[in-house]
Amino acid sequence: MAASALSPSKPVRDVCDYDLLFDCVHCGLCAEACPTYVVTRSEMDSPRGRIYLMKSLAEGRLELDDDAARHLDLCLGCRGCETACPSGVHYGRLIEGARSFIERNHRRGLADRIKRRAVSAIFPYPNRLQTILAPLKLVDRLGLRPALRAVMPRTIRDWLDLLPPLEPGSRPLANGATNSPQANAPTVVVHHGCVAQVLASSENLNSERLLAAAGYRVVRLEPTACCGALDLHSGNASRALDFARANVRALKNSGADAIVSAASGCSVAIAEYGDLLKDDPEFAADARAVSARVRDLSSILLDAPLKPKREFRSIVTYHDACHLAHGLGVREAPRKLLASIPGVTMVEMTESDLCCGSAGSYNLTEPAMARELARRKADNIVATGADYVVLANPGCEFQVAAELRRRQSKIKVVHLADFLAMASQ
Ligand code: SF4
Ligand code: SF4
Repeated sequence: MAASALSPSKPVRDVCDYDLLFDCVHCGLCAEACPTYVVTRSEMDSPRGRIYLMKSLAEGRLELDDDAARHLDLCLGCRGCETACPSGVHYGRLIEGARSFIERNHRRGLADRIKRRAVSAIFPYPNRLQTILAPLKLVDRLGLRPALRAVMPRTIRDWLDLLPPLEPGSRPLANGATNSPQANAPTVVVHHGCVAQVLASSENLNSERLLAAAGYRVVRLEPTACCGALDLHSGNASRALDFARANVRALKNSGADAIVSAASGCSVAIAEYGDLLKDDPEFAADARAVSARVRDLSSILLDAPLKPKREFRSIVTYHDACHLAHGLGVREAPRKLLASIPGVTMVEMTESDLCCGSAGSYNLTEPAMARELARRKADNIVATGADYVVLANPGCEFQVAAELRRRQSKIKVVHLADFLAMASQ
């Protein structure tokens, strides 16, 4: 990192919301909650180190070279630091600003650029992802994925390993009504996400069925646009705003009283539209209203518990998806819901709220750190002796399942909505 002699005390570059940097009092209490610091033990890979980097860049005391970009790129955006911070630092907003600054001002190496462009061009668009996965479905049906994997370059091999088996209808759907019979029932939209609607459709359908059984009238968005979280995390601020506006319009028109997502990253993105669009005179008020209606699935279902017909004898451990625990502050509701199922024994894993390395598209662009965190997570899961690890985010599901498959572990990785559907059969 090249530091210049210049040392002004006001920003000379638009790196992030500069005033927010001063909430940090440099206490370091966030360090042990930061997955990258826990792995590298480097101050520059800690939240405090990254805040220092952003401030130095903003004040022109540091140039944005490969080294500085690397430390910022390695951040998972998991927000573990936000919940650990006693000073209320809005780290998520800071890193999103810094990511946008990097995109505008830094040219990455060719391989990195190709990977990021591929993610950006495919993943937010369900039709494109479907098209690319169509031949892979046939490959899976013929049992040829290992042969395909063997002839692929390293990056594609890593991506193939993260892809769940493409077996249609492999997860049961919840019994019962697909909508509330009450005409005056509160309405809910389950936002189907982008990747989730292609690779984890049972989680969306089960969320809808469980909400219908809890007395909600389910309204669908047709089609559902990406929430914009992938773009926000990768620094593509303008497209994130476009997606946010499209969703605000659709969610407002749906008239939904509650908005739920089976992907916690999408829930947080929608819950923050009010902040994201606060300077847009046309959308600010509607965005605030939409954000205020975001609810967590488990918190709703806790008020209308399932009545399973039989015991579901199993040992279950729960992994806290980062955006659910650190973004929405939901930790107890899913655990209580699981513990309420007759026959289920809950066991806590060590570091349940340390990121598994999935982090949106992080495991596609930063495979080494993502894999290190997946190994750590899998060690902690295996140590519980559980039959099931339940989580509330499809990205975590793919990441943890890939690592457990590599170990040929019998532990099943199941989204909360799918687990509740199985347990209530
Ligand atoms: S968002 Fe996560 S990885 Fe990034 S600095 Fe905070 S705790 Fe560390
Ligand atoms: S981000 Fe918060 S916890 Fe971390 S060093 Fe700054 S004030 Fe302390």
